[in-house]
Amino acid sequence: MYQAFLVKYAEIGIKGKNRYKFENALCSQIRHRLAKIEGEFEVTREQGRIFVEAKGDFDFEDAIEAMSRVFGVSAISPVQMIEDKSWDNLVKEVGDFVEAQYEKRDFTFKVKSRRSDKHYPLTSPEICVEIGGCLLERFPELSVDVHNPDVFIWVEVREKAYVYSKVYTGACGMPLGTNGKAMLLLSGGIDSPVAGYMIAKRGVFIDAVYFHAPPYTSERAKQKVVDLAKLISRYTGPIRLHVVNFTDIQMYIYEQCPHEELTIIMRRYMMRIAQTLAKENDCLGLITGESIGQVASQTMHSLAATNDVCELPVYRPLIGFDKQDIVSFSEKIGTYETSIQPFEDCCTIFVAKHPVTRPEIKIIRRSEEKLSEKIDEMVQEALNTIEIIEVDG
Ligand code: ATP
Ligand code: MG
Repeated sequence: MYQAFLVKYAEIGIKGKNRYKFENALCSQIRHRLAKIEGEFEVTREQGRIFVEAKGDFDFEDAIEAMSRVFGVSAISPVQMIEDKSWDNLVKEVGDFVEAQYEKRDFTFKVKSRRSDKHYPLTSPEICVEIGGCLLERFPELSVDVHNPDVFIWVEVREKAYVYSKVYTGACGMPLGTNGKAMLLLSGGIDSPVAGYMIAKRGVFIDAVYFHAPPYTSERAKQKVVDLAKLISRYTGPIRLHVVNFTDIQMYIYEQCPHEELTIIMRRYMMRIAQTLAKENDCLGLITGESIGQVASQTMHSLAATNDVCELPVYRPLIGFDKQDIVSFSEKIGTYETSIQPFEDCCTIFVAKHPVTRPEIKIIRRSEEKLSEKIDEMVQEALNTIEIIEVDG
C-alpha cells in the first residue's frame, strides 16, 4: 500500500551552512542503493527530512533493506501520502491508515505531529489532540498513553500531509563521501572487513589492497577477499580492490632477514606499498584491522615498528576491541561466515615459531638493510603488476 518513505538521518556532523552537502551526499547514496533494486524512485530533500517516492511497482522489503544499508540513515518509515490535506480529509485518511495498518486495534497510542505549513489552520499540538480524539471516537478499543504508548502515529503537514507509524532502523553514521577516502588493508580474516566498515560508516569512501602470495596463497584465498570486499561494498559503496603480488618480496625477506622478524618486516612492506597506492588514489589514510595484543605482530612494540614506515595516518578502529566483540560485529554485518572459510592468508605461511614480540625499530631497520640490493626494484615490480578488481555489492 505504501508508495513513499520518509528517511530520517542521524548525526549531522557539519551543521549550518554545510548541511546541504550532507543531505545531498545522503540523497545520492540512497539513489545509488535504490538503483540496484527493481522499481523507479524519486529522492528529494525537504526541511530536515528526505522523502523517497516510488513511481510504480517496487518490492517493499528490498527497498527498506537497501535504504537501511545507507550510512547516515537513522530510520526509515513507510508513509502514506495525503494529497488533500484539508482537515476533514486528513482526519478521515489518518483513520483509514490506522484501520489498514492494524488489524487488532486494542493498543495504546499517542499522536505526534509536525507542521511545516505554518498557514495550516491547526497548530501541531492541536493536530495531536484533535486527531487523537477522532481516532478514539472511530476505534473505541484504542486508548491513549502519552508516556509509554505501544504505537506512535505521526502526522506531518507539509506541502502534502503524511501519516506513518512504522519505523525501521538504519545503519546510522555519516553519508559516504562527506569525509574523503581511505585505503583499507583487506585480508581474508575477520578483522579487516569490520575495520573497513567502521571507517566507511563515518562517511569515508574505501579503496582496498590485498597482498596475495601465489602459489603459497591459493586462488580461493584471493576469491575470499574479493567476496569480502563485495560484502562490505553493500554498505561502503563501490570498492577498487588492488591485488598486489607479494610473493617475491616475501621470499626475499625470508631469505635475507632473521625469521623471527619476518612478520614485522613483511608488515612494514605492506604498509609502504599500501601507502604508495593510497597517495596515488587520493586516499588520506590507511585502515587496518589491528587490535592491541591480538597476535605477536600487534603488541604495542610491534605496532610501533609497523607504524614507523607510515607517513599517512593509520586508522585502526578495532584497536581496543576484544576478538569476541569483533566476531559479533562481523556476524552483524554479514562477513563472518566468509571470513572463517579456511583459506590461508599470506602471513600464516611464513610465520616463525617464535616471532619477536618486542621488536626494536633500530634493529628492524638494520635487518632491512640486507634487502637493499633488490627490494626497491621488487616493490616497483609489485606496483606495476597490480590487478584491480572493482566490486559493488
Ligand atoms: P584479519 O582478521 O583482518 O586478517 P589478523 O588478526 O589476521 O587480521 P594480521 O594478519 O596480523 O591480523 O593482520 C593485521 C592487519 O593487517 C589486518 O587486519 C589487515 O588490515 C592487514 N593485513 C594482514 N594481512 C594482509 C594481506 N594479506 N593483505 C592485506 N592486508 C593484510
Ligand atoms: Mg589476517
